[in-house]
Amino acid sequence: MTKPNEHLVDWLRDAYAIEKQAESMLKAQSSRLEHYPELRQRIDQHLEETLCQQALLEGCLDRLGSSPSAMKDLTGRIAAFGQAVGGMTMTDEVVRGAMRGYVFEQAELASYTALIAAARAVGDAKAVQCCEQMLPQELEMGRWLLDYLPDIVAAYMSRSADGRDDAKR
Ligand code: MG
Ligand code: FE
Repeated sequence: MTKPNEHLVDWLRDAYAIEKQAESMLKAQSSRLEHYPELRQRIDQHLEETLCQQALLEGCLDRLGSSPSAMKDLTGRIAAFGQAVGGMTMTDEVVRGAMRGYVFEQAELASYTALIAAARAVGDAKAVQCCEQMLPQELEMGRWLLDYLPDIVAAYMSRSADGRDDAKR
């Protein structure tokens, strides 16, 4: 039988894998974007937040005796998450990238919401605090992407109509 604490560690490791995936997704997206400076700036901001989140999760895992550097299953966890949320390579056009980014943030929100409940259940106040710190950052990024999506679509369609093949980035 799995002990409650082991569930918490398991899900923290998943969250760490998600943040690793987030890092590569955001980096790929940012490096490709040329004509969407606001989107790129917001992505870069969230990339900074994502790196801090990784450090917070590393701290939690270290404290619980499960250092991420010893995570032999990291690649497998990232792949499993990628399958759950769909293609996340971000080499796609800007509109699809923003839509997928939004979906990704919702998955992160679900992950931290579950983690907060799990950490509460085992009485791990530090883990609760870490996850409560990260959750609003995902909420804000998701909201921003949703709010800004109509502008991205309009700009993309206008550039495409001009026959510009760089409209998508
Ligand atoms: Mg995150
Ligand atoms: Fe995020």
